[in-house]
Amino acid sequence: MSHAPLHPQATVRSQQMLPRGHRAPKWADVPDEKWFDWKWQLKNRINSVSELEEVIRLTESEHAGASAEGIFRLDITPYFASLMDADDPTCPVRRQVIPTHHELEPFMSMMEDSLAEDKHSPVPGLVHRYPDRVLMLVTTQCASYCRYCTRSRIVGDPTETFNPAEYEAQLNYLRNTPQVRDVLLSGGDPLTLAPKVLGRLLAELRKIEHIEIIRIGTRVPVFMPMRVTEELCDVLAENHPLWMNIHVNHPKEITPEVADACDRLTRAGIPLGNQSVLLRGINDHPVIMQKLLRELVKIRVRPYYIYQCDLVHGAGHLRTTVSKGLEIMESLRGHTSGYSIPTYVVDAPGGGGKIPVAPNYVLSHSPDKLILRNFEGYIAAYTEPTDYVGPDMMVPDDWERKEPGQSGIYGLMQGERISIEPAGFSDTHHRPGGVSHRLNSREDKWTAYGVGAPNPASVSDTSPDGKVNVPIPVHSGD
Ligand SMILES: *Cc1c(COP(=O)(O)O)cnc(C)c1O
Ligand code: SF4
Repeated sequence: MSHAPLHPQATVRSQQMLPRGHRAPKWADVPDEKWFDWKWQLKNRINSVSELEEVIRLTESEHAGASAEGIFRLDITPYFASLMDADDPTCPVRRQVIPTHHELEPFMSMMEDSLAEDKHSPVPGLVHRYPDRVLMLVTTQCASYCRYCTRSRIVGDPTETFNPAEYEAQLNYLRNTPQVRDVLLSGGDPLTLAPKVLGRLLAELRKIEHIEIIRIGTRVPVFMPMRVTEELCDVLAENHPLWMNIHVNHPKEITPEVADACDRLTRAGIPLGNQSVLLRGINDHPVIMQKLLRELVKIRVRPYYIYQCDLVHGAGHLRTTVSKGLEIMESLRGHTSGYSIPTYVVDAPGGGGKIPVAPNYVLSHSPDKLILRNFEGYIAAYTEPTDYVGPDMMVPDDWERKEPGQSGIYGLMQGERISIEPAGFSDTHHRPGGVSHRLNSREDKWTAYGVGAPNPASVSDTSPDGKVNVPIPVHSGD
């Protein structure tokens, strides 16, 4: 199955996992006390062409990219830089953090803020897109910088970071928005904040009664695993229930140091997930992705999402097709543990949020048979019950969460309405030259019986035969 590599300098070595304490020759003499001190790692990050050249043999393209004016911030911890292969430009670690000249190339549909996050922020840094949860950006700083960063419009720029007044505005919005039960801290990287600042933010969030869970999205355990100290774990553990997603793209990033950091976090009671981005020349291969997902599960990190790369400035050359993602998903289900299978999502351009994409397993459907195929191509008929009318138990009223304006497709199923129309639908279909006449003048012609009634599908309005009990509207008869 292995094909000849397309790149003349591609090696197998550049894909392999590295032993504990591994460091590039540039740092061979750094004593352990310094190497394993996260403050030393931060202070000694590399960011200039000359420093890069002390660690790897730059290609012309990398040289051009790294020397270009106005590129997205370049900074790499010595720990992470040591995972790069000095001689293989296809090294998956290298491609994540070293710019190339392609980064400067525009591509169709690229945008500065492709997920329209700033448009969906009622206050700076608080993205409220979904009914019950928000994304809270708390810093623009990271331990190292990923070339494909979806938030490159602000990330890396210290002048764009969030100040105490903005934290207060974010917290106030949350205090006044009982709809929100889940807060996802991100940035930048929340774990680059001073532990006291992070601790205060977490404590303020915990005081808000309607916030049920807190999550942190971070790449610190990967870029700088030594930052995951016992003290940091203690601060986090004081704020349970707290969940965390890390961000690993390639098995080579799972070093013994990363495994230890994840162990400290899980022992502090923090369930760990992983988010990967599908990236050209990095992990766009079923075998590499399978290996990554297996290695994650071995260190008790549950793969959560694989993201299709966003349409963001600078990321064009790292994008794959969605069909490559589907091929990878096809290679997972059935072939490996369900625990190691994440959801593949496209974050919708313009701000539609994450949309799962998956191979089709349902081949066809009749009233009493569902025709399914499995990963091997085995095709089965599942016989449906013919007497099914739905659940008949009572459900506590306060379990149902209000989703004003966002009930969506589920709302259609619940009978809240009969259609969702694109903006301007009604105007478009009100044809110029048309008139109000005997056939189109009565609006109630298009009122669907039983639809839009209060709680049409809830048990109290439903008779045992599953029919909705609503009085038949009486026409005034004109
Ligand atoms: C990803 C994201 C979330 C969290 O989504 P989940 O699917 O619940 O993980 C929340 N808000 C925004 C704006 C996001 O982009
Ligand atoms: S760690 Fe996250 S926020 Fe920071 S540069 Fe990478 S993708 Fe962007």
